[in-house]
Amino acid sequence: MVIAFIGNNFKYEIEAVTKLFLPLQNFEFLFEEIPDSADNFCIVKREKAAAGYSLSVNVLLNGEKREISQNESGEFSDEKDETILCQSLYKILHELTGITPPWGCLTGIRPVKKVNKLLDEGKTKAEIFSILKEKYFVSDEKAELAFRTALAQSKALKMLDTRSFSLYISIPFCPSRCSYCSFVSHSIEKPEAKKLIVPYVDKLCKEIKEISLIAKQLELRLDTIYIGGGTPSVLSAELLEKLMYSVKKNFDISKIREYNVEAGRPDTITEKKLEIIRDFGATRISVNPQTMNDSVLAAVGRKHSAQDAEEAFKAARKLGFRNINMDTIAGLPTDTLQGFEHTIETLCRLDPESITIHTLTVKRASRLFSEKDGITDNNIGEMVRYGQKKLLDTGYVPYYLYRQKNTVENLENVGFAKEGYECLYNIYIMEEAQTILAAGAAGSTKLVNTDSGKIERIFNYKFPYEYISRYEKMMEKKSGITEFFNNLSE
Ligand code: SF4
Repeated sequence: MVIAFIGNNFKYEIEAVTKLFLPLQNFEFLFEEIPDSADNFCIVKREKAAAGYSLSVNVLLNGEKREISQNESGEFSDEKDETILCQSLYKILHELTGITPPWGCLTGIRPVKKVNKLLDEGKTKAEIFSILKEKYFVSDEKAELAFRTALAQSKALKMLDTRSFSLYISIPFCPSRCSYCSFVSHSIEKPEAKKLIVPYVDKLCKEIKEISLIAKQLELRLDTIYIGGGTPSVLSAELLEKLMYSVKKNFDISKIREYNVEAGRPDTITEKKLEIIRDFGATRISVNPQTMNDSVLAAVGRKHSAQDAEEAFKAARKLGFRNINMDTIAGLPTDTLQGFEHTIETLCRLDPESITIHTLTVKRASRLFSEKDGITDNNIGEMVRYGQKKLLDTGYVPYYLYRQKNTVENLENVGFAKEGYECLYNIYIMEEAQTILAAGAAGSTKLVNTDSGKIERIFNYKFPYEYISRYEKMMEKKSGITEFFNNLSE
């Protein structure tokens, strides 16, 4: 499809809305009139009129043509004009394709952020629902989900100041690579990856120390920690201990509110590692089965069984962990609605404090993207609906929510927790509410000015080999942290 922008450059949002209806189309973008030969096209136009200006969207799709136009008074207003054009395009494509995207034309990855902003402005629930439904065409079901999520976050979001921060530590190694994975994580099945682990942890401990010095100098207060990946528990017990000792030695963890370790893959979890995680102060862990169906686990390249996941969970309970999360993914290759129901029911029986339901995302970097096998199950929407309802009925509450590009059926990922067990780190990262200082390969430091909402980012090298070999160069960029906080004080 050719999309032409005349008198505007609203490419990002217009493309995002078009993709809601035509996810598999290739697009060509023009900033001039469309040639007569174009088969399928969309013309998004803003032009001066005798009084004010006009906005129009004109679409030809598979031989059917539609147009919506309207006149506006005064001068151009980018924000308002973009919204009007997106709404017009949404209405046309909805009519031409018969598709009703559940999140309407709300295309961003953080729908709850919008609800939080409306709550901050003092809007009532009824007013927020009317904005979500009338301006963005969000379904009742998703409006309710976003609103409930925002309410569950409100307490955590009030307890923040610009000088508090979370520490993220990245372990980009896994025991094998899942077919749907697009993260940089390296499978340690490959000897060249395995041999990087020891030097990687060395550099990581060095970076943790340097971050602690920066934080001390700037009088920043550590609030939460998240060791994620990858699979942190893929580290040997000795390396895990070395890493967690380094955190304990460099930061005062007695005052932090939360310490997460994403143990992750059950096949890497041992009693010894759980004891280390517990003894070095972690308050919350994740045991992530993704599915409780052995055939699906095998189909996505995970080398553990559902029984392994259950045993890892029970071992953690036995060792005293009272805040455990379990992750699932709806829409995995070969999974079925019945299979997904079994997963959710099994997790509810295990009774962890939080359960996250992700929707399968097929990104270009994943093996699944090139293979595209078994991902055409039409029941993904049903799986998500079933899972969310079951968790709500069981007493879990949605507390963070985000969407990713290329998520199957454009659905969302939602973290559910029992009251009082909402993961602060997940809320803060998703709502971009708190500074995150990141250590390790692919770590992304996010500097947040909580007063102005301004955000700056500093990226670590993506791959472990470059993180190790170019460590000094990478650390030069960390001076941006000091600059950011010094500018705040001026
Ligand atoms: S466990 Fe997670 S990070 Fe590791 S390969 Fe699987 S999806 Fe990727």
